[in-house]
Amino acid sequence: MPEGKIVKALSGFYYVLHNDELIQCRGRGVFRKNKVTPLVGDEVVFQAENELEGYILEVKERKNELVRPPIANVDQAILVFSAVEPDFSTVLLDRFLVLVEFNHIEPLICITKMDLTNNEQNKLIMEYAQKYRSAGYEVILTSSETESGIEQLNPHLNHKISVFAGQSGVGKSSLLNVLRPDLELKTNDISSHLGRGKHTTRHVELIEIGEGLVADTPGFSSLEFTNIEAEDLTACFPELLQKSENCKFRGCLHISEPKCGVKQAVESGEIPAYRYEHYVDFLQEIKDRKPRY
Ligand code: GDP
Ligand code: ZN
Repeated sequence: MPEGKIVKALSGFYYVLHNDELIQCRGRGVFRKNKVTPLVGDEVVFQAENELEGYILEVKERKNELVRPPIANVDQAILVFSAVEPDFSTVLLDRFLVLVEFNHIEPLICITKMDLTNNEQNKLIMEYAQKYRSAGYEVILTSSETESGIEQLNPHLNHKISVFAGQSGVGKSSLLNVLRPDLELKTNDISSHLGRGKHTTRHVELIEIGEGLVADTPGFSSLEFTNIEAEDLTACFPELLQKSENCKFRGCLHISEPKCGVKQAVESGEIPAYRYEHYVDFLQEIKDRKPRY
């Protein structure tokens, strides 16, 4: 039986990409078999007489699943932050990074609107970029206006499913427009998706950019730490995780425990103070969360 990837779901049909062909499928067989609702991003086994009358027979195991927008098997989140307008926010970036790490998605930090920075702002962004790179993250500085940095971003999209994420106004649609200028009609579509309010029902579609697939709707529309427990948080900060190997106590949360490898690394300057402060704030937020019954 052939296999493919669902790239679009609309009005009860699933559009399965198979050898560069789109096969319109219904999900009937799959509901009978393993009671799973297929999602955009799913790898599926299907059967089709022709390209308009297919059936999805099986949904392969997912590596992850986002709720809003509903999409499976996301490989990469492109975290879009503007250098200015709005100003670069490390606390918001760290929040996105936690959510992305927790979902086992590879993050890529893209800082946009570099053409709008003055010397001082430019220097500040360079310093932050260096800090995030030292923590192990890929950081790309771009401008959709001058198209600088775009050629660096392009290869990172290949052979992956990516979602863009970030506050509204940071330049996500502009970036997509530069990456896929030929999608003119569709990019208008994209802008309206990206600007859409919370209560409208969303449909997601994966669009091809180079040799990759990109969701046309931004991911991580909820920034709550709903499913994250206190003991999960260290692993969402790679440089803290690394230094936690030196903590004396197993399960150290790096707050007031003695002989804490993380706090030592903050004191020596190996871990930037603001990253640790965000960790502490997020931990408190998780502890203060009302229990759900
Ligand atoms: P989105 O809400 O994240 O999709 O942001 P948009 O792509 O709609 O961009 C918001 C505003 O910022 C628009 O007026 C864009 O023209 C502008 N913008 C986006 N990227 C850049 C950039 O790299 N340089 C400049 N100068 N303006 C940008
Ligand atoms: Zn510790």
